[in-house]
Amino acid sequence: MLNKRIIKNLLNVKHTIIDDVKMTADNSLVVHVHPSKGHQCRCGICGKKSKFYDNGRGRRQWRSCDFNSTMVYLEADAPRVKCKDHGVVTASVPWARHKSRFTYDFEQLVAWLSLNCSKKAVSQLLRISWNTIGPIIIRIKASLDPNPNSRFDGLKRIGIDETSYRKGHKYMTVVVNHDTGKVIWVAKGHGKSVLTKFFELLIKEQRKSIEHVTADGARWIALCVEEYCPTAVRCIDPFHVVQWAMDAVD
Ligand SMILES: [Zn+2]
Repeated sequence: MLNKRIIKNLLNVKHTIIDDVKMTADNSLVVHVHPSKGHQCRCGICGKKSKFYDNGRGRRQWRSCDFNSTMVYLEADAPRVKCKDHGVVTASVPWARHKSRFTYDFEQLVAWLSLNCSKKAVSQLLRISWNTIGPIIIRIKASLDPNPNSRFDGLKRIGIDETSYRKGHKYMTVVVNHDTGKVIWVAKGHGKSVLTKFFELLIKEQRKSIEHVTADGARWIALCVEEYCPTAVRCIDPFHVVQWAMDAVD
């Protein structure tokens, strides 16, 4: 007898009803599922309850984490709904992100491995094509940081500096929020054209709220601050003051 609860626990899915489990001729495990009642007919983008539109392209499969060496797929209907805000879209499913053919857990595994192994190793180990890895990472990043621009809300005291990597051969520009102690923006290179990209990302109100900018004495930083935050006070950060004093003493 099929123990659906064990299968559901192994799959680590929520709000999902297991209908059936089948082995295919090529030894893959296909678990037939459907979303539980409260999670049906929801917009794939915003998740709001929406009206059923049509059956879309019929049934669809999502790759889940392997059970030992057996590949596991979830299979379910993929109907479309008509959302008030987003129009006709594929309904959301509780086991995977919108537009993904992989479950949450599988994408999580890909992202973790990608941070620790080469793309080739991830692709061979998980038996996926290497060009699906990038889109998975993009989806995870978007879910971790759904509104990147909100990082620039309510900035008061920021710090700008350049730092080198690859043994001083390459530079990057870093902007920090002194009030939260967090890095809010990083870009390759340095100079006015690079820093301009940061200030261009900010809306008028966000630029206006900046009261203090710490930096070294670089002219390109001063020029950008003068142009985009003319009312902000520029401060020389103590790190550089100490560094210059030590150089002078030497
Ligand atoms: Zn919607």
